Amino acid sequence: MPDIHVCEVGPRDGLQNAKHLMSTEAKKAWIRALAAAGLAEIEVGSFVPPKLIPAMADTAEVVQFARTLPGVTVVALAPNLKGFQRAIEAGAHKVTFPVSASREHSVSNVRMTPEQMVEEVRKCAQFPHPGVEIEGAVSTAFGCTMQGVVPEDDVVRIAKALAEFCDGVALADTVGYANPAQVKRLFRKVKDQIGAKLEGAHFHNTRGLGLANALAAYEEGVRHFDSSMGGLGGCPFAPGASGNVITEDLVFMFEAMGLATGIDLDKLFAAREILIQGIPEEPVYGHTPLAGLPKGFSAHA
Ligand SMILES: [Zn+2]
Repeated sequence: MPDIHVCEVGPRDGLQNAKHLMSTEAKKAWIRALAAAGLAEIEVGSFVPPKLIPAMADTAEVVQFARTLPGVTVVALAPNLKGFQRAIEAGAHKVTFPVSASREHSVSNVRMTPEQMVEEVRKCAQFPHPGVEIEGAVSTAFGCTMQGVVPEDDVVRIAKALAEFCDGVALADTVGYANPAQVKRLFRKVKDQIGAKLEGAHFHNTRGLGLANALAAYEEGVRHFDSSMGGLGGCPFAPGASGNVITEDLVFMFEAMGLATGIDLDKLFAAREILIQGIPEEPVYGHTPLAGLPKGFSAHA
């Protein structure tokens, strides 16, 4: 059992914001390499209308493929009941629902207020979904490019509502506004209300604070982190939001701290090469893959 659970969200959060399309075959090769590196949870796509995000048009096929990889929890995003039904049909093990705490972002992203979106997720939770885990992710929890400040009380209220019917709740810094002090404060506030239902942290590295924020969340007891290989990612409906926290650097940080992630760093770097081959025009980031592992470094066995 690893100490830290990393969910690779590159195939979803990364590719939906990439300027170039990755072919379905290249996605499969990348996801296969990610699984081989030990990533036990992979968010492989999003069940949104293909017209809206063409990069996600093949999500059903990618979910079906990822299900064939042993030991991988296949995650998909859904914005509504229709998307949820498609996710179940394709065989996703876990579905994550983004609920924006920012009113402006919510209306722009899903054309629903946060309260309407919570009700949509409730409807999904009531729809039969045997064996499928449901996560409610409070997005723009730390600020919003449209609205600016997002009141912490709004985040707590939404997280509390989602905890009533979701298996787990995550807080997401969709646009890379968070700082470590804020992360500690908000995770503590939400945890006070919903306890162990608060599971995941999703950070973007827009201002270079992705790792610092992940560490702050770790210190507040968080053990589930989303990250994206090569720091791909962003939100097409939140201008200026780029780059998830980088999987390679996140895994290195935790392993160097003596915490087991279950991920093999050499195989992770190999998967990065597959990613680059699959979408060569897209910029990738990351310090550890470029610098290499420190001399004498030993990963947590
Ligand atoms: Zn994101």
